[in-house]
Amino acid sequence: MSPCMERTLIAVKPDGVQRRLVGQIMQRFEQRGFKLVGLKMLQVSDDLLSQHYCELRTKPFYPRLLHYMTSGPVVAMVWEGHKVVQTSRTMVGHTNPAEAQAGTVRGDFSFHVSRNVVHASDSLEGAQREIQLWFQRKELLNWDCCDQTITY
Ligand code: ADP
Ligand code: MG
Repeated sequence: MSPCMERTLIAVKPDGVQRRLVGQIMQRFEQRGFKLVGLKMLQVSDDLLSQHYCELRTKPFYPRLLHYMTSGPVVAMVWEGHKVVQTSRTMVGHTNPAEAQAGTVRGDFSFHVSRNVVHASDSLEGAQREIQLWFQRKELLNWDCCDQTITY
């Protein structure tokens, strides 16, 4: 991976999987030009979630969040690209879908904060921490894109 490249964790949450939105969400990241370097479907454990959402443990909605996130399988992905962390947050939209702009994933596919379809890491440090939590090193693949010669 070149030094100017970033990686981020994107996860289609159980409501997104159940509503068959996985393909459409992945398509947006491919269309934007990002590179998929990790992908898996999993039933998330309470242990993983408590580490993933450690900053939210004291929030009143935390028990409901755990219940939501374990209500079915999640599709977890690692996307790579120039400024992919910030760009993904923009593509995903506001945490509360009621405030998310049309054209964002949450703005197009959801209306309530308790079912907001997708997760996206919120910072470079957060992305690194989350990718390590969700993926083993061997599950992340380095491969060549046809546009690899572009310098940013
Ligand atoms: P984001 O997912 O946009 O980074 P946060 O990290 O603040 O947002 O929250 C993590 C997740 O917790 C949200 O995506 C949403 O699923 C859930 N959540 C946040 N705030 C609320 C709330 N007020 N009520 C219910 N669920 C919430
Ligand atoms: Mg967050």
